Amino acid sequence: MPPLDVHLKSSKQRTGKEYEELHRWIDDDKLNAPEIHDISRIPENMKYVNKKWGEEAVQEFVLHVKEDMEHRLKENLQYFGLFK
Ligand SMILES: [Zn+2]
Repeated sequence: MPPLDVHLKSSKQRTGKEYEELHRWIDDDKLNAPEIHDISRIPENMKYVNKKWGEEAVQEFVLHVKEDMEHRLKENLQYFGLFK
């Protein structure tokens, strides 16, 4: 997964804010991180994010999960020599 500062940087580019607390909530708690990244739980987690950090943070939450998935996909393709 991309390191925290990659998420902070892309949030900053999109919104002008880093949303550090949000990204730390998504990644830092190793026990809950898999559930927070689980696509099937996005609707439920979106409600929590909206309540805690507001509407704009919901988009940043979903994009965090998307960035992680793209990163993982790229790593897998590189592993099999299908992506440079
Ligand atoms: Zn993550």
